[in-house]
Order: sequence, then C-alpha cells, then structure tokens
Amino acid sequence: MSDNKGVLIYGEVDGENMSSVVTELLGIGRKLADARKERLSVVLIDKNANACAGDAITFGADRVYVIEDVPADKYEGASHAAIMEKLCSESVNPAIILLGQTINGRDLAPRLAFRFDAGLTMDCIGLEIDPESKRLLAQKPVAGGNVIATYSMKDDRVQLATIRRKTMEPLTPDESRQGEVTVVPSGVDASAVKTKVINTVREESEGPDLENADVVVTGGRGVGTPEEFETHITNGLAKVLGAAVGGTRAAVDFGLVPEQQQVGLTGKIVGPTLYIAVALSGAIQHITGCAGSKNIVAINKDENAQIFKFSRFGIVGDYKKVMPPLIERLNQIVS
Ligand SMILES: Cc1cc2nc3c(=O)[nH]c(=O)nc-3n(C[C@H](O)[C@H](O)[C@H](O)COP(=O)(O)OP(=O)(O)OC[C@H]3O[C@@H](n4cnc5c(N)ncnc54)[C@H](O)[C@@H]3O)c2cc1C
Repeated sequence: MSDNKGVLIYGEVDGENMSSVVTELLGIGRKLADARKERLSVVLIDKNANACAGDAITFGADRVYVIEDVPADKYEGASHAAIMEKLCSESVNPAIILLGQTINGRDLAPRLAFRFDAGLTMDCIGLEIDPESKRLLAQKPVAGGNVIATYSMKDDRVQLATIRRKTMEPLTPDESRQGEVTVVPSGVDASAVKTKVINTVREESEGPDLENADVVVTGGRGVGTPEEFETHITNGLAKVLGAAVGGTRAAVDFGLVPEQQQVGLTGKIVGPTLYIAVALSGAIQHITGCAGSKNIVAINKDENAQIFKFSRFGIVGDYKKVMPPLIERLNQIVS
C-alpha cells in the first residue's frame, strides 16, 4: 500500500449548513475509514465553513479542515481544485477522496483526478473496502442501469469516487463525538479563479422538493392523461399526504408531468420514507431513482408488474378504482 492514508470528504456548504449529501458521504466515509483503520476527514471550503464544523463531527468526522478565506464567493471549479490539491499534498495525503454526485462534485472530481493522476469512479451507489488489498471497490449502474458494475482503481495511491444522492445512510448524529477542527488558509488567491458565476436561478416548483421529500407519490404512463394525473396524483393522493409529485420517464414523454419531476436513472434520485408508485411498471431505470426509499407502495392492475418485487405493500387493481376510497380514508385520518 502507498503512504497515503485516510478518507477525505469534500464537504459542500449550503448557506449556513452542510449540504445534506455531506451527511450521506460521512456515513459511508466512516465505514470505509473504519475498514481501513484510518481517519475520516472532511474539508469545508466556504466563508461559513466554521459554522458547519461541529455538525461534521457529530455526523462522523474525526477531523474537519475549515477553509474560509475563499477567493470566490460561490463554488468555482479551478480555485477549489487548487485549494484541494494544496491541502491534500501538504496536509492530508488521503488514500480516498469522496465527493457528492452533485453539480459541484461532478465538476470538481475530474479536475482532482487529473491533478492527482488518479482513478475516479463517478455516480457510485455502493462503496466498500476490499478486505485483502484494502482498495476501494466502487459500485455503479452501467448499461442504462441494467447492470451494477464494481470498479477497483488501478493505482491505490489516491482513489476518488462521487456518490449518488440518497444511496448512502447518514449516521445517527452523536453530539458526544469528539473531533479536531483545523483552520487552514486556502493558499490560493483571486488569480486561481478562472470563471465567474454571474447568476444562479433556483428551480421553482410547487409543493415539497422532490429530492428531499419524506413522502413522494409518483405516477406512470398507466395514469393515462394529464387531467387524470392532476386529479388523482397532484391534487389527489399527493395533496392529501402533503407529498412531492414524481413521474416516470414514460409519463414525462407522454406529457403527464413536467420533465423536472422525472424520477430515475436520467431523472431525480429520491429517498423518502414513503414512495407510492401508481400505474408504473418498475423498469430498472426507474427503480434506480427510488430504490433508496424506506417503504415502496405500488398500485398496479397487473399482478406481475415488476414494481411489486421492490414494494413493501402492493395493491393489485385499476388505480381509478383504488385511489378514490384510499384518498377519502386518508382525508378522514389527516383532517
Ligand atoms: C437509458 C435509459 C434511461 C432511462 N431513464 C429513466 C428514468 O430516469 N426514469 C424512468 O422512469 N424511466 C427511465 N427509462 C425508461 C424505462 O426503461 C421505462 O420505459 C419507464 O420507466 C416506463 O414507465 P412506466 O412504468 O410509466 O410505463 P410502462 O412501462 O408502460 O408501465 C405502465 C404500467 O401501468 C400499469 N397500468 C396501466 N393502466 C393502469 C391502471 N388503470 N391502473 C393501475 N395500473 C395501470 C401497467 O400495468 C404498467 O405496469 C430509461 C430508459 C433508458 C433506456
């Protein structure tokens, strides 16, 4: 094995808090670090980094590197890559670097892999340590989501991976956990900044945010028409449950639901406590987006529909007959 040791997480900061994906990275990072009997560190590069350091320890980090003297207000790829390179080569020397499969993570990970001349596996849904070689084994969906492939990186000096949201469990926060916080100068100035974010636009959507919702109701092609989708899903079951609304790709293609609500391999990844799948077949590309749900409930008129294999509860029947009494009963319970 090389001299590089430990797991380092690139921790994104959202306003005054750690981004939720960081708690997921800390959950898996803790397991990897324990399996290698090494330390788990996280680096927070943001003007509010110090405010999040305690949370990072609570969620599993042994050490937090706080870098607040950032040369740009918002994330900027070239300067963050320069900061990470400096930190890794001068202080941390990690064996594994984990990032979220987020807009920033997708931009930063290849830059780091290039700078470290290291292997990178992107969009992972599972990570473990090979008990013998102690190398990272990274699982990711390939071939349109039909196959889960396991990758091992050739050079074990530094191994990088990005993690798909909602595929890893955060640890239960433990306020009594102890860790070290080290404030580090970024070591780069404004000349490292190569691009400028002129404007950011938040996607507007009604109701709860799909990716962070605790309850999601998703409709498939079998719902029929946009009007039926609106009546039974958006203004029906989702409304009474205060749920976010999702759709399959076929539902999107048929104009039943807007594209930004697509769940699956090429859509959003969700991980609610309750996922209700209405009139959708359960194609693997769809399941890839909702497999992290704690409980899947399916309504489908075909008793052999694949979705039932992934469901905790299933109702076989025409959704138009099943849903009205269900909605009525739920209305009685919640009102
Ligand atoms: C590269 C690639 C990426 C993809 N990415 C995604 C993705 O991100 N998300 C995604 O969802 N798909 C994705 N797909 C498409 C995916 O393979 C399926 O085609 C799609 O998920 C099917 O959508 P569906 O279940 O709504 O439709 P169908 O497969 O047509 O299923 C409709 C279901 O509705 C049931 N039904 C019909 N009428 C009723 C009724 N009245 N009551 C009850 N049940 C009824 C039927 O029994 C059937 O099971 C991708 C495909 C590829 C190749």
